[in-house]
Amino acid sequence: PGKLFQFKLVLLGESAVGKSSLVLRFVKDQFDDYRESTIGAAFLTQTIALDENTTVKFEIWDTAGQERYKSLAPMYYRNANCAVVVYDITQPSSLEKAKSWVNELKRQADPNIVIALAGNKSDLSERRVIDTETAQNYAADAGLLFFETSAKKSTNVNELFTSIARKMPLD
Ligand code: GDP
Ligand code: MG
Repeated sequence: PGKLFQFKLVLLGESAVGKSSLVLRFVKDQFDDYRESTIGAAFLTQTIALDENTTVKFEIWDTAGQERYKSLAPMYYRNANCAVVVYDITQPSSLEKAKSWVNELKRQADPNIVIALAGNKSDLSERRVIDTETAQNYAADAGLLFFETSAKKSTNVNELFTSIARKMPLD
């Protein structure tokens, strides 16, 4: 029957970058143009079959990005095995915010945490202000997985979560 591995995954990032939309795409293969913003945090699960012997189940904590919920974040990342830090390729401030989350994770989270950086809204290419190379170089320096994603068009969403699953300790 193979083995089932479970990991806690936390999403972090500025408000409105598309954290909840990435989770909704990954878990339900849906997208809403008008999503209600997350209050506190939402919990969802999804499994990925990596091969016939290995299934990874993610327990996903989708946190609210608003400043007023910031003090809650450590509750969610403290026990996390992996994190997706999201920015919006059309919002320069969101990459700065993502970097500050990465720094906080490196200081405060489990030292073995696997971190992925996701540059979301890649479908909005005409409004892009953060080029791929800038973010990719930062991610490489910081030792992060990196994907540009579109929750709307379903680009690289499964790839993002699958590459995290493959980087987890599976033994
Ligand atoms: P969160 O606050 O980070 O959870 O962001 P949401 O998932 O609530 O998304 C904020 C807004 O961005 C919503 O209007 C979404 O429909 C929109 N959005 C999210 N992902 C994408 C995407 O990949 N492309 C586009 N064009 N819009 C997106
Ligand atoms: Mg949200």
